[in-house]
Amino acid sequence: MTETYDTLIIGAGHNGLVCAAYLGMAGLKVKVVERRAAVGGAAVTEEFHPGFRNSVAAYTVSLLNPKVIRDLDLAGHGLKIVERRALNFLPTDDGRYLLTGEGRTRQAIASFSARDAANYDAFSDELTDIADVLRDLVLQAPPNLVQGWNARSFREMLRLATLGRRLRRLDIERQRALLDLFAQSAADYLDRWFESDPVKAVFGFDAVVGNYASPYTPGSAYVLLHHCFGEVNGKKGVWGHAIGGMGAITQAMAKAARTYGAEIETRAGVREVIVEKGRAAGVVLDDGRAIRARAVVANVNPRLLFERLVPDGALPPAFLSRMKRWKCGSGTFRMNVALSELPSFTALPGHDAGDHHTAGIILAPSLGYMDRAYDDARKYGWSREPIIEMLIPSTLDDTLAPKGAHVASLFCQHVAPQLPDGVSWDDHRDEVADLMIATVDRFAPGFKQSVIARKALTPLDLERDFGLIGGDIFHGVMSLDQIFSARPMLGHADYRSPVAGLYLCGSGTHPGGGVTGAPGHNAAKVITGDLRARR
Ligand SMILES: Cc1cc2nc3c(=O)[nH]c(=O)nc-3n(C[C@H](O)[C@H](O)[C@H](O)COP(=O)(O)OP(=O)(O)OC[C@H]3O[C@@H](n4cnc5c(N)ncnc54)[C@H](O)[C@@H]3O)c2cc1C
Repeated sequence: MTETYDTLIIGAGHNGLVCAAYLGMAGLKVKVVERRAAVGGAAVTEEFHPGFRNSVAAYTVSLLNPKVIRDLDLAGHGLKIVERRALNFLPTDDGRYLLTGEGRTRQAIASFSARDAANYDAFSDELTDIADVLRDLVLQAPPNLVQGWNARSFREMLRLATLGRRLRRLDIERQRALLDLFAQSAADYLDRWFESDPVKAVFGFDAVVGNYASPYTPGSAYVLLHHCFGEVNGKKGVWGHAIGGMGAITQAMAKAARTYGAEIETRAGVREVIVEKGRAAGVVLDDGRAIRARAVVANVNPRLLFERLVPDGALPPAFLSRMKRWKCGSGTFRMNVALSELPSFTALPGHDAGDHHTAGIILAPSLGYMDRAYDDARKYGWSREPIIEMLIPSTLDDTLAPKGAHVASLFCQHVAPQLPDGVSWDDHRDEVADLMIATVDRFAPGFKQSVIARKALTPLDLERDFGLIGGDIFHGVMSLDQIFSARPMLGHADYRSPVAGLYLCGSGTHPGGGVTGAPGHNAAKVITGDLRARR
């Protein structure tokens, strides 16, 4: 006997869960099937060493949309997000440091350059104004390119006009800056404002995080902007920590989805989407069970869906051939470490918890350093001097580690998604993990001795464990040709695929990666409308 639902969602990542909750709210009968043993996708908390728990993949929160938090009553379902006491800490090679955050950034910058400090407010205002306008576009499908003249194309024209009106809320200078941010490199953009290397680095890090590119690569400024959309507890541009780790977010989302009647089954991987007479009609699981539904919604990377799960012949050849060129590979290496004590930095010594220990600790003192890291990774597979952001969430959350001990997330940028000459990541995991620990040790001597245990995830591990093709944390590079109306492809920015009844709701759709809930929210709206129309 096969079971039948209104909608079947492949994957219980946070977007799949958000989509399930909204579809449930709309009165639809929803089933979510997840390949892993736990819900949450890349936003999970796991015990990686006895007594030590951490957000093993995504590790910090800001982009999670406030409407999603409200609509799903995530706080009511147990989610509590706290702010870091400082935003970023960047130690330099010459023993100085920058400590940014609410009320302290301009003064911190002044110790490096009076000119940069004088420019900071105008820089921050420009990014805030532009992020404000784009933030409005996050919770709706971008204008979709459709062919011919019909009711649908007319609707899309109206949406384009609405978009134009929104952008006109920016004055002409801001519109020019918006173009800069879409097209320029982060270095070009930051050079306009700042002269000091550490100052440019503390802002430029956001342009290379999850972006396998140099800060001198055109288009990298957009990734910087993408990381500015967020807020924590109503404070814009702030990053925070979910008590209990990122898994607390997805556990709350799963509870919300179940409240609205969604059924969620784990250890239930999908082998194939059932397509009948050109329409998606359900899925076949790895164990051979078939589940039928009026609509199938994929939370997975678009390439995983179209190359592996949709049967041969169901897609237009031109679409499939373009999808095979969908760029995936954020070049990231993720480590979780258990620590016996907090690190003491040469630039700011002391093992006692300071505000800097709660910050995003950026180990990459200049844009030139980041550029070299990228060059190295392309030539040798990883950078000899890697870029690392370290976060020590146990300084804000005592549920993660035994008393007195700590857990840290090391998010290491610029390792090649695939190693050159057919070499496997399985043969280099430990060597690269040692390099990452040694890199932290260079800024905080004694760090290496404080590591009790570690778990390293190469790009290959991210693909195998989480289904992230090429280890891409965003389900596809956030480059100009893969964002907004082109995510995942021109003509399919409306969450609908070329197969009738088959939709996408993951980070491979607008507005892209990060724990935002926005793709799940937007997809649910489109699917609900389509299913109502079919009725
Ligand atoms: C290492 C790392 C660090 C990151 N850091 C941050 C951060 O600090 N802050 C932030 O905001 N974002 C961060 N991100 C990005 C963010 O986590 C992702 O963009 C986001 O979680 C993706 O959510 P999703 O729901 O779209 O997809 P996913 O979380 O990828 O969920 C997809 C789900 O589909 C499941 N699945 C795959 N194949 C199948 C199948 N055949 N059948 C059934 N289920 C299947 C997967 O197991 C997974 O659970 C990070 C990501 C990574 C990997």
